[in-house]
Amino acid sequence: MTAFDAHLTALFACRACPNVLGEPVTGPVRDARIMLIGQAPGPREVVDKRPFAFTAGTRMFAWFRDALGISEDEFRRRVYIAAVIRCFPGRDEKSGGDRVPSVAEIANCSGHLDREIVILRPSLVIAVGTLAAAQILGVSQLKDIVGVVHRATRAGITFDAVVLPHPSGRSTWTNKKENAALLAKSLELIKERWHLGVRS
Ligand code: SF4
Repeated sequence: MTAFDAHLTALFACRACPNVLGEPVTGPVRDARIMLIGQAPGPREVVDKRPFAFTAGTRMFAWFRDALGISEDEFRRRVYIAAVIRCFPGRDEKSGGDRVPSVAEIANCSGHLDREIVILRPSLVIAVGTLAAAQILGVSQLKDIVGVVHRATRAGITFDAVVLPHPSGRSTWTNKKENAALLAKSLELIKERWHLGVRS
């Protein structure tokens, strides 16, 4: 069994977090050199068994289509779609949205992310949202980290990292003109590095 297959077996069998719902979800691409890290799957993703399967995905893949000229299908074929945690955290009663993963859940799941980075040795990591950015850069103030390329290291592997705001409909960050400009810059940086996704 390859390291990649062993990883997927371990990930799909993981039940380390007692308060999450459903089975782990990931978007595996065996030879990917580009990884995208989201926050956590929602209920639709658990049913569809693939990340970004609902409204946030529709918005995010529209960004890639418009800025990079890349369809959702091609993106899913080329990019390993990971997440800060791989199981649906459940609903947050107060906000009505999905519950933010706990510190313990993020810690439990970080080993899966580390293993993927070691196996894939990505050239580019796209961190989507503040939690993903914190996992890669250690900071999460979007205005300071969107629109620039970072050199980051995790699990002993160094790569370029570009941050996007979370595409959830609940996020209003891109409504401000200056933030929309930062998003456009991040997408341009990804476009410039899209060729890195082809393994030589
Ligand atoms: S969130 Fe991650 S660590 Fe927790 S049960 Fe799911 S796969 Fe395992």
